[in-house]
Amino acid sequence: MQSGKLIVLTGPSGVGKGTLLSSLLQRHPELVLSVSATTRSPRSGEVEGKSYFFVDRDKFQQMIESEELLEWAEYAGNFYGTPSIPVMENIQQGKSVILEIELEGARQIQKSFPDALRIFILPPSTAELEKRLRGRGQDSEEAIAKRLQRATEELEAATEFDIQLVNDNLDDALQNLETILFDSGE
Ligand code: ADP
Ligand code: 5GP
Repeated sequence: MQSGKLIVLTGPSGVGKGTLLSSLLQRHPELVLSVSATTRSPRSGEVEGKSYFFVDRDKFQQMIESEELLEWAEYAGNFYGTPSIPVMENIQQGKSVILEIELEGARQIQKSFPDALRIFILPPSTAELEKRLRGRGQDSEEAIAKRLQRATEELEAATEFDIQLVNDNLDDALQNLETILFDSGE
């Protein structure tokens, strides 16, 4: 059986990665979204094991030490990482797996999986990014400030990625993402 593709989706917090992915997965249930572990507290509506595996810092540290994570990074005061086993199993079964991760993690994946397709999602402007982060209404002022600061660094790295995709109009961005994933001539 042919191995599945590893797809990395990165972009600043609030750019619309989660929104794009939930539409993409509804339309393409054959795609697998990797569920990360995080030390961040759950937001309202987030579901254990579906949105994230919510763990404490000791447990996260233990996952690092026992090499259970494909990559991990600290982001805005919390740790985030990709559990290896489900990703490797799905890829071996020929399924395409999407990692929705931040920049440092994407850089680690570039080293360990040079064949991964890495996509960076850009906002139409930084003003619109800030508007979306606030509009989501899920983060404290402090968290929003940290995310905007990190966004500046991340946006500068967009050209490291194979593909840059602007999420201006949602339907257009979704269609472009589908073209990238499914019309690449494979
Ligand atoms: P991320 O997962 O990148 O942090 P979200 O998917 O949570 O971002 O989106 C942040 C906010 O922006 C949400 O309130 C979402 O509804 C909104 N949003 C996402 N895409 C668009 C878009 N193309 N146009 C306007 N608002 C959007
Ligand atoms: P949030 O707290 O908004 O859910 O996520 C914050 C950031 O962490 C986002 O940029 C998201 O892509 C990233 N992230 C989520 N899971 C992982 C992961 O497993 N590894 C890494 N490196 N980043 C992650």
